[in-house]
This record gives sequence, C-alpha cells and structure tokens, in this order.
Amino acid sequence: MAPGPAIVAAVPDLISISEAVELVLARVRPLAAERVPLDAAAGRYVAEAAHSLVDLPPFPASAMDGFALRSEDTPGRLPIAGRIVTGTPSPDVLAAGQTIGISTGGVVPDGADAVVPVELVTEEGGTLVVPKAVVGGDNIRPRGGDLAAGDVVVAPGTRLGPAHVGALAAGGVPEVAVGRRPRVCVLVTGSELQAPGTPLGPGQIYDANGSILAAQLSAAGAEVERLPPVRDDEEATFAAIKRGLEADVLITTGGVSVGVHDLVRSAEAQLGVEEIFWRVAMRPGKPIAFGVRGSTLVFGLPGNPVSSLVGFELFVRPALLALQGATNPHPEFLPGRLVRGSKRVAERDSLIRARRTVRDGEVLLEPLSGQDSHMIARAATADALVLVPRGDGVLEAGSAVEFLPL
Ligand code: AMP
Ligand code: MG
Repeated sequence: MAPGPAIVAAVPDLISISEAVELVLARVRPLAAERVPLDAAAGRYVAEAAHSLVDLPPFPASAMDGFALRSEDTPGRLPIAGRIVTGTPSPDVLAAGQTIGISTGGVVPDGADAVVPVELVTEEGGTLVVPKAVVGGDNIRPRGGDLAAGDVVVAPGTRLGPAHVGALAAGGVPEVAVGRRPRVCVLVTGSELQAPGTPLGPGQIYDANGSILAAQLSAAGAEVERLPPVRDDEEATFAAIKRGLEADVLITTGGVSVGVHDLVRSAEAQLGVEEIFWRVAMRPGKPIAFGVRGSTLVFGLPGNPVSSLVGFELFVRPALLALQGATNPHPEFLPGRLVRGSKRVAERDSLIRARRTVRDGEVLLEPLSGQDSHMIARAATADALVLVPRGDGVLEAGSAVEFLPL
C-alpha cells in the first residue's frame, strides 16, 4: 500500500489578539439602563437619546454689551429708549429710529436687528451717536442657533464628557438614561500573595494585581468588589470563584497556566463556565482565558502584573465599555513611530512598554529597558503599549507602529 500523507496531530494555532477581542465582544449584552442626575452622569454611556426641552439660545440674545437698534437707522443719532436688564423680558418692540442699551445675554427686542458694541459708539446725554453703518444681524445670537427644542443633544453610545452634561443642562434636561455600571469581582490567586501593610514571609510577594485592576476598573466605569486573595488550593479556589460568578464580570489573576497549581480553569469548568478561548498569540499574557456563565463574563488573567495589566487593556476594558453601551468599545490603537529597534517574537504579537514624546506632530515611542512581565515598577514608567507584530529579527528603529496610550 502506498504511504499516505503524513498525519500530523492538529495543534490549534493560538488565536490572534483581534480574534480574541471579537470573541469577547460577541458575548457582551449591554446592561440595563438607569436614569441618573446630570451631575452624576459624566463618564457614563448614554442609553437613550436625550432631547433639548428648549431652543438654544431660548431667545434672540445679545452677544455684546452695547445697544440694540435697527441697522437701517445707522449711521445716525438715536434717542436711547432705556436699558434692558439681563434676565428680564425686553420691551415688546423697539420703535423705529430708537435704540436701547443691552448687556451680553440680554433679550433683543423685536424690531431690533443688530447690536452695536459699546466701544463703537458715544453717548451724548440721552442720544447715542453711531458713527458707522451697522450690518443687520451683527452681535445677535439667533434663537435656536445652537439647537432647536426637541433636537437630540446626546445620542445613545456617547460617553458623557463635561461639554455633554453642559449641553444637557443648557437644554433643561435634569437627568439622563445611561448604561448601568458593571459589577466586577476581582479575585487574585496564589499562595504566595500577601496584602501590602503586612510583613512578607519567606517566599511571599505583595499582591500588585488587585490594586492595578481596581484602578483600571474604576477608570472604566465599573463597580469593584475585591475578594480576599485565595491560596492555590482546590476547595478554596472553587468557593471563591463560585462567589465571584455572582457578579456581571469575574476577573481572576494567576493560576491559568499549565503548572500544577493552576486551578482556576478547572474550578470554573466545574462551576459551569463555558470556556470561549484560552491562550492568545501575544506577549506578555499568552495564557489568558475567557469564558461565560449565563450573563457573567469570566476573564482569567495571568498572574504576572504586566500580563494582567495588558490583558485588561486589550480584552477586559472593551468588554466593560460594551456592557455600558459604548458605540465603539474596541481598543483604540493610535499611530506612532519607534525610535529604537525592538526584537520581534516569532509566533506572537508583543505589547511592549514605551515612553512617548511628540515631535513635528508625530508620536515617537521609546521602548523601556526591562520588558519582563513581572517588572511592574518598570512598566509604571511607561505611558504607551506598543504593538510589535510577530515575526523574525528586529522591527527597525523608525518603523511605523500602533500603540495604546496608558
Ligand atoms: P501564575 O500566573 O499564577 O503562574 O503567576 C505568574 C507569576 O505572577 C508568579 O511569579 C506569581 O508569583 C506572580 N503573581 C501572581 N499573582 C500576582 C499578584 N496578584 N501580584 C503580583 N504578582 C503576582
Ligand atoms: Mg499562581
């Protein structure tokens, strides 16, 4: 019998970063909306369009301190009919040939079609001398010139910033429907972990990941609950994960590699978590796991602090933003240029820590020395994560790259 083709055991290739992001986002269902007062709304994601209750501005308003008049009466000498106080109604109509004093924000009376600034005129007794012709419409903010009553002020998916809440306030909107904050449980695993504030025993290290994640989570709009660190013990791990699965999102760190103490994935499997992927073609952070149970998203980040930090930025933050209803939750990579060469990794995309500067309008990225995934103190001096695509040799200095701001 002729020999058949060699049969090679199928080793699944590691999935790419972007494939993993899509697998995560495909599992996200936005959380229910809640109404919050405007002053609590900054940083939240709009769930339902909010409409202005009034025209903006609500009336034709003066843009200057000066005098309202009819442009056709200028140049000329006009009797001053009085003064309009800001915040009060103006006389119904300005009579032809007259003028009236007005401040910025005052209601321009019917009949007037322009405001001449106080700097361009002189007062002689009760008469205003306007030396030059004034153009119709000058220095008047038309009613509804910014927005009409009923118009959308903020569309669904918008992350509310200071100007958005300001526009809502100006439109008379006292509260806004936003996506609920995700409740996120953080569980760090490892028998070696000790909380800062207590002395280290032999072989122990301080838990850095819990603090990193708590900071990343609150910046991403989540409500954080930290469980006590759990030892590498099957029962303790099982009990802690069971508890964590009550949240909208469970994030564990450590215990997702192939070591004998890596108990997280098996505990999750026993608890009914469906694993969507395990291991991504990246460095640091290859042994990252993602799964779901019901509506709970379950992220298993590797234990090394930089791996945990990077895994959060690439996969967890997008999920949190999508849960809150963000229009575009994807990691926002920006263009830049490497100023020093960086060694590539054959089968994995690297995310290297770098410092950025701007020169001639271009972001220059200088990789830090000390790129090991345990080096959280070095990573703390970085403000960019640069994507160095997989490959051979070195990605040369001067290469165009993409980075995530930190
Ligand atoms: P693991 O993923 O559990 O194999 O852990 C990988 C490395 O990360 C080990 O050196 C751990 O001691 C370290 N590590 C795990 N969890 C933490 C943590 N919460 N804070 C700091 N280092 C950690
Ligand atoms: Mg461990």
